[in-house]
Amino acid sequence: MNQPITMMALLSFVSCSLDKPATTKEDDFRYNVEQFADIGVLRYRVTGWDSLTVRQRALIYCLSEAALWGRDILFDQNNRYNLAVRRTLESIYTAYNGDKETKDYGEFLIYLKRVWFSNGIHHYYGEEKFLPAFSVKFFHEAVRSLDTEQIPVGEGQSVDEFLAEITPVIFNPEVYAKKVEQDSSLDVISLSANNYYGEGVTQLDVEKFYGLRKDSNDQRPITHGLNSRLVRQNGIVSEQVYRIGGLYSSAIEKIVHWLREAEKYTENTSQKRVIELLIDFYRTGSLKIYDDYAIAWVQDTESLVDFVNGFTESYGDALGIKASWEALVNFEDSYATAKTRVISENAQWFEDNSPVARQFKKEKVKGVSAKAIVAAILGGDCYPTTPIGINLPNSNWIRSEYGSKSVTITNITDAYDKAAEGSGFIEEFVCCEYEKELIKKYSSQTDNLHTDLHECLGHGSGKLLQGVDQDALKVYGSTIEEARADLFGLYYMPDAKILELGLLDNAEAYKAEYYKYMMNGLMTQLARIEPGKQIEESHMRNRSMIAHWILDKGSAEKVVELKKNSLGKTFVVINDYAKMRTLTGQLLAEVQRIKSEGDFDAAKALVERYAVKVDPELHGEVKARYDALGIAPYKGFLNPVYEAVRSEDGEITDVKITYGESYADQMMRYSKDYSPLPTYND
Ligand code: ZN
Repeated sequence: MNQPITMMALLSFVSCSLDKPATTKEDDFRYNVEQFADIGVLRYRVTGWDSLTVRQRALIYCLSEAALWGRDILFDQNNRYNLAVRRTLESIYTAYNGDKETKDYGEFLIYLKRVWFSNGIHHYYGEEKFLPAFSVKFFHEAVRSLDTEQIPVGEGQSVDEFLAEITPVIFNPEVYAKKVEQDSSLDVISLSANNYYGEGVTQLDVEKFYGLRKDSNDQRPITHGLNSRLVRQNGIVSEQVYRIGGLYSSAIEKIVHWLREAEKYTENTSQKRVIELLIDFYRTGSLKIYDDYAIAWVQDTESLVDFVNGFTESYGDALGIKASWEALVNFEDSYATAKTRVISENAQWFEDNSPVARQFKKEKVKGVSAKAIVAAILGGDCYPTTPIGINLPNSNWIRSEYGSKSVTITNITDAYDKAAEGSGFIEEFVCCEYEKELIKKYSSQTDNLHTDLHECLGHGSGKLLQGVDQDALKVYGSTIEEARADLFGLYYMPDAKILELGLLDNAEAYKAEYYKYMMNGLMTQLARIEPGKQIEESHMRNRSMIAHWILDKGSAEKVVELKKNSLGKTFVVINDYAKMRTLTGQLLAEVQRIKSEGDFDAAKALVERYAVKVDPELHGEVKARYDALGIAPYKGFLNPVYEAVRSEDGEITDVKITYGESYADQMMRYSKDYSPLPTYND
């Protein structure tokens, strides 16, 4: 997966569920769990659980266990001190017997909750390190009050030495300042705080090391570097591979154990084969086997239960080579799948009729399998913050020869919607009654449709010209790829074909998506950026880029405007929806050209001009309006709790699901029951 495509993590702030089929009684189900800092913790419901067979439940249970055992890996991938920080904080949380009513202790709790949420010391979206608001003095006293064995000191280290090492990691803003450095004028490898590259490894080292391994004549290249850390030892650069017997072995052994358990309950032989290949990959670290696994996985479209488990997405690496560990277990939502199937059956029509130049189109769009799924467990880089749609595998040649699996996660979208009802967001930020009505009525439908089009068609569309390096766009690659997929969806939403296929039932419904998209890209997503910071995360950059480009290109004809009302509040006003559609088509054609030709300079110009910069005045205004509503701009999810009922010979005879666990209890349970890695993995 050199090309960090996929995973559309669009946060759906608000919409309404008027047009959804009635679900079961939900009186006692609370979607909003708790809120701290800029984070809201939600809960999702595993709709349809009751309709599963015992065997399917047992399979989900085993795969869920495999999903939870990788959590430590992600912490360590994000920064080499993350496990030390988390374990120190958790020891304080468990054993501290000082005054818990102080400001310091309150701030300590918030910091710990943020570390859990972000799987480390850096903000999940912003990539920058967040700082605690408790004092160094409090921290040192709290650590010193612990028993020595509760403190994760390094080998041969005293508590004082440990504190001297860990304190700047937590408190000094200059140390490990950014998880991913994306400024292409700098050395993005040595300045990134993630742990994909060892001490002293530079961007030049990485480009040389993987440049040598790339063979432009190889039509079916493995994704070099995906599952390893690159280190420099005695001047020699080499890989530490994630596998049994290699890096992260103790966690991978547990994952493999539960995959073997899962094999006992598979639905069919092709699903069993998928799991066997994944086990082989974890055993050997062979990326050739990984490709075999990805092919088997994408070809298994019959099974009801499905999963992602492995080193998958490379957003966490500035060069998009190394993949973070993630997991998701799910089963098909057959009601919603009927709609996505219609999209995928018509994939070729959409490809043929797009505004993209012919030489950049796929002559034959292959096997875009699309389904709607219910998430049953989130793990690794999908937990607690999760995407609402996924399109895998990432390997370009596998995608073009075998197609990809594209999913939208309906129970997560639904939980966002339910949690946001009545928040006052629409009333505050939407300009006019006309759009407010459309959004209330249609945005649940249009959100899902846009995600479907993005995942089922957008990522799978277009082709690279012969000889173009798939990494040619470097740090701008992710943003351009996400823009391509979003634009494909935006362009088609107003199309008559959408009505003809029954995907929307009203010719104006698409305006709900257009309005929300512009409002989000120009304004409301700024609520998630720290004051003084620019936009870093690639999905956010993509939305900002599209919205600002349309605002700019349509300015002469006032297609879209930013206007202030008499109270000085800014609103997005869309004057000409039809013209806006034309503009999305123009940008789609240009973005596809950039991707197909590998035009780095054009990608850079587009992203730097439209995607990154933040207007400080508007930024301050949006944050103030958000604060006044009390809405947390970032959301994540707690998992349900599964409990296996076993017969005397150990066979799973049923699996119970409950939802009552609190955020802190869940995190502490995971840290206690699923934490196999040593504190330092060097
Ligand atoms: Zn995407």
